[in-house]
Amino acid sequence: MSRTISAYAVKRCPVCGKSIGRALVDWENKGDGMHRVYVECPMCRARTNSYANQNLAIESWNDGNVSTNRTYQESLIGFLEVKNG
Ligand SMILES: [Zn+2]
Repeated sequence: MSRTISAYAVKRCPVCGKSIGRALVDWENKGDGMHRVYVECPMCRARTNSYANQNLAIESWNDGNVSTNRTYQESLIGFLEVKNG
């Protein structure tokens, strides 16, 4: 039986607790012609890995499976921050 999790079921950030996570498309990580999705905290930038669909990303987030380790993110998010100025 599969669980159905809507975007409204996203929990608060397990790291800072200041905001609920938001599902974002990982534009830098395109596999098989499909962009992957991850959940990120807009306050502290904690995030999940990228998943094939939103529900998987949200489920990971709600399980507290997030990363605050910038070493993995630098190549992905740092790229965007430079472009955004
Ligand atoms: Zn946070």
